[in-house]
Amino acid sequence: MLQTKLRLPPLPSVRDLVKLYRLRAIKQLSQNFLLDERITDKFVRAAGNVRDHYVCEVGPGPGSITRSIVKKAPKKLIVVEKDSRFVPSLELLQESCKPYTDMHIEVGDILTYNLEHGLIGAQNVPWHYDTLSPIHLIGNLPFSISTALIIKWLEHISQKSSAWTYGRTPMTLTFQKEVGERMIANNNEKQRCRLSVMCQLWCNVEYKFTIPGTAFVPKPDVDVAVVTLVPLKKPLIDIAFKTVEKVVRAIFNTRQKYCIRGIERLFPEPKQEKLSKTLLLLSEVKPTARPFQLTNEEFVRICYAYKCLCDEHPHLEEYDFRMPKAMLEDYMKKFQSCNP
Ligand code: SAM
Repeated sequence: MLQTKLRLPPLPSVRDLVKLYRLRAIKQLSQNFLLDERITDKFVRAAGNVRDHYVCEVGPGPGSITRSIVKKAPKKLIVVEKDSRFVPSLELLQESCKPYTDMHIEVGDILTYNLEHGLIGAQNVPWHYDTLSPIHLIGNLPFSISTALIIKWLEHISQKSSAWTYGRTPMTLTFQKEVGERMIANNNEKQRCRLSVMCQLWCNVEYKFTIPGTAFVPKPDVDVAVVTLVPLKKPLIDIAFKTVEKVVRAIFNTRQKYCIRGIERLFPEPKQEKLSKTLLLLSEVKPTARPFQLTNEEFVRICYAYKCLCDEHPHLEEYDFRMPKAMLEDYMKKFQSCNP
């Protein structure tokens, strides 16, 4: 039987490998390395039990979190790294964990990497089960892509696609501390924003702990949050992700104003006032509530009411208040001819 923590065959320390291969951090790739094993172990512990599971690590860099993952003996470990300079140090680790972990090194961009492909063979656990899928997404994410990546993954969660075709796949990721605080912010809290609502409609979000900026090499200007996101068995909403994103974005676009101001942006001029009022009546939301005061349930009701109005008014869903003027003219002709 395996011990709780495996001992890897002797390897040079990650710090020595960074020196040996002259791996100077590249700012454009948001490279800030964690070289303290106690912190990387704590980070991986936050992901829960990964033994015999499938793990995908985003941006392993020289491989310090990767080592902490490998010590937990996952069945398969896929690491996706954009910077090929890290391949030799990752290959050393790949060789040393061969007897018990099937480690794959993918050089590429996580924003375009086909996650599902690497996970073929993982067991499928139905979404309504209490048990999560045997897959974990882990990563000390590059700041430059962390928000874009989580929005992309939330969309996959809403579609039960990619890593979520296998069930409720949890994520343990880092974000700038302020971003982590926004992700968990409830209504009436000052950090409440679009990201809070988008994350909470589909996931249970937990702020696990803070890693001080001083723990990284080189030291970033901010502290870092370790956050876990576990998809909800039953998401709070069942509407296309892009529609929800559009509504939530429009409302938070006028963060300091009454929510009706943002809602008006969802509707073209001639029908703006009437449809905004109808939407608020349908959703039973006070027009004078500020966006940050709205609960998740109120956002859900607003989205359903918007969807209802779109079903009644042809072409309404295509309206985007940021449309260029030339496009807007054509759109208005189409909209008005169908919605006299
Ligand atoms: N995991 C390492 C650690 O904790 O020490 C490095 C973390 S560093 C914050 C982010 C890593 O992500 C870097 O190795 C960087 O090269 C990599 N990276 C940056 N953009 C990426 C992308 N689009 N796809 C995959 N990896 C990326």
